[in-house]
Amino acid sequence: RNLRKLFPGKSSFMKKDKAWIKAVDGVSFKLDAKETLGVVGESGCGKSTMGRSVLRLIEPTEGEILYKGKDFTKASGQELRKMRADMQIIFQDPYASLNPRMTVGEIIAEPLNIQKRYKTKEETRAHVLKVMEVVGLNTKYYNRYPHEFSGGQRQRIGIARAIVLNPSLVVCDEPVSALDVSIQSQVLNLLRQLQQSMGMAYIFISHNLSVIKHISDRVMVMYLGHVVELADKNELFDHPSHPYTQALLSAIPVPERHSKRKKILLQGDLPSPANPPSGCIFHTRCFMAQEICSSQKPELKDVGNGHLCACHFCGGSCTENDKKEN
Ligand code: SF4
Ligand code: MG
Repeated sequence: RNLRKLFPGKSSFMKKDKAWIKAVDGVSFKLDAKETLGVVGESGCGKSTMGRSVLRLIEPTEGEILYKGKDFTKASGQELRKMRADMQIIFQDPYASLNPRMTVGEIIAEPLNIQKRYKTKEETRAHVLKVMEVVGLNTKYYNRYPHEFSGGQRQRIGIARAIVLNPSLVVCDEPVSALDVSIQSQVLNLLRQLQQSMGMAYIFISHNLSVIKHISDRVMVMYLGHVVELADKNELFDHPSHPYTQALLSAIPVPERHSKRKKILLQGDLPSPANPPSGCIFHTRCFMAQEICSSQKPELKDVGNGHLCACHFCGGSCTENDKKEN
């Protein structure tokens, strides 16, 4: 609820005040048990920072994280450790996120050891071997090191480490982006299968819309640290309401040869999160922008059936037809 993460930026020569980089700027959303919320947006829009703040891997500057009725932001000591065990993360880069000096067995056992789950090494080992099987890793690799594996296998090790404590929530931060396309679907299918058998909820972060479409129940679109649209997956892909979402979706290649769909090109670059635009944060690049947009910030409002959109012209005037006329 209203999650905010500011990073101190370089203070400029002229100004005494520090510049603050608003990586996540007032993000609110709800996640149901066993649900997958896809989070999409360009790189630098705050997706990863949001995912990490939710787990308090980086401490949020402001806001509340309400988890199973408890305020996770205020948890400390024993309670924090217990809640942490229930929330895990899978990182983007399976090459960088595994300690090269630890064996596969040690990597997967680490969360069990931190949580003091078992009294004996044998019990821990038996649990690790079981999880290796679940994620499709041959148990004979138990004493091998990460560098001996391909990207896909390494990501299976990362997934094993994330699920070994049987969590209820896993933040998947671009878990397939670093993998070959041929391996991506295997890992995505594994994640889906695990979700079904273990009943986890995912916050699934990706810049790849096809991946998001494949895996999500609902989709949240982020731009410059803000949520600009949030809806059920089919609703979002069939009826994108926010101009930014429309532009993102128009960039997906369409298989039909004579498709009339036009690609919407965004002007300019993503503005600096240290100095975000006034009014609507998207107005400097929006093909629909009007005068009001540079001065008044649009609220994230329900445009019907829980479809949320942050645009002054959402829910009616902002349609495909308007876009073609423009
Ligand atoms: Fe574009 Fe204005 Fe809507 Fe922002 S409020 S998305 S600038 S039309
Ligand atoms: Mg990222």
